[in-house]
Amino acid sequence: MNFYGIRCGVLIDGTGKPPLKDVIVIVKNHHIARIERNSSLIDPNIPIIDARNCTIIPGLIDSHKHVMNCGGFGIEVGFNLHQLKRNLSEISKGGVTSVLDLGSANIAPYLERLIGSKTRIYNAISILTCKGGYPQEYMPQKFYKMGSVIECDGLDEIKRNVRKLYKKGVSVIKTAVVSRTFDNRPQVNWTDRELRCLTDEAHSYGLNVCAHITYIKDYEQAAKCGVDSIHHAAFDGIADNNVLEIMIEKGIIFVPTLSLVDLIVTGLKERWIFRPDYDPAVNEKIKVNMRNFTEAYTHGNPNKPIGDFFVKLPKSQLEEVSAIQLENVRRYIALGGIVAMGTDSALGFSLHNTPTREIELLMKAGLSLTETIKASTLNSSKVFGMQKEIGSIEPMKRADMLIIDSNLENNIASIDKIKSVIINGNIVYERSKNSEKKQ
Ligand SMILES: [Zn+2]
Repeated sequence: MNFYGIRCGVLIDGTGKPPLKDVIVIVKNHHIARIERNSSLIDPNIPIIDARNCTIIPGLIDSHKHVMNCGGFGIEVGFNLHQLKRNLSEISKGGVTSVLDLGSANIAPYLERLIGSKTRIYNAISILTCKGGYPQEYMPQKFYKMGSVIECDGLDEIKRNVRKLYKKGVSVIKTAVVSRTFDNRPQVNWTDRELRCLTDEAHSYGLNVCAHITYIKDYEQAAKCGVDSIHHAAFDGIADNNVLEIMIEKGIIFVPTLSLVDLIVTGLKERWIFRPDYDPAVNEKIKVNMRNFTEAYTHGNPNKPIGDFFVKLPKSQLEEVSAIQLENVRRYIALGGIVAMGTDSALGFSLHNTPTREIELLMKAGLSLTETIKASTLNSSKVFGMQKEIGSIEPMKRADMLIIDSNLENNIASIDKIKSVIINGNIVYERSKNSEKKQ
């Protein structure tokens, strides 16, 4: 069936425009054909899905993900092919129809086909960093060999590696602008000249540059040297307005990944893993890791980092990070900056099964309902330059949509009441049938 209509109770189209009521979205040949207000103009022979009690939104787009990560508190805890398949199935059931995978390994470009993922996977394959730069402080060497990290020594190597990734078909170039380690020691970082060389080179191939940043002092260098999106809200303090204004003036999309720390701290404090009703979509190894880590947190010294987690912040400081990050995003939004939804899952208790908490936090930071949906769809597609094809319910776009069994105007958290997930015009998941459909 690829010629049909959806009779919408409420349509929020992802562009930020006010919601439309009682319209019919016409899907044809895997695309949105048109949005019709007058049902008498619709061919009576085409099937109509009745969603009059529902809200229709574009498929969610997670613009910062690691599809191979599995949750828990280690980089590779519990990783296996079965879990990877489960990750990808959870992602589509959670209403995420496209992801930007920011750092997996050389197999990233083949995952969609290998695993039969329904969700589209755009990727960066590797993180390009300077010699000795982030994430050397915690990333095991074998990940460098797998292609997750590429160190570039000087301008020629930067150019060579950007070109190499372009030829492999990446959707963006990912880098890190990090001048301090997680435990606040000085960290080797790009010079301005090197970073400009990297962004110029990426732009010359039509690729956006995503920058991983965790300290406010690094925002300005990234913005001035031409990155297109900044990933992670800083957790060491509140950024000055003039730095945020430089980012805004450059049109930088801010992907704050707020839910990562929020869910880790909440999950640890509330001891989710010990609750009988908490059923994370992860394997036994990851569950054991989560239990051990929760114990380490519960009994740990407030002034010391927790267990062997690579984020070496003292426990008391980690608990304050969520509020600091939220304030940074609140300011960015208040000044007129563009934000996009990214979960950084799966790590800790931030799992692949739903981006709901991230979406709630973006709204808490000051976005309206329609802006929140736009941040979680169209703005996310802009991070990797696919906004002409996906991200909103408009004619000519790919038919990626969610039918939500709720009125989001009353409660954004009810975005997880997903009735159907539609990718490319095909219904890939229907809750009532409690199973995933074959495409
Ligand atoms: Zn990440």
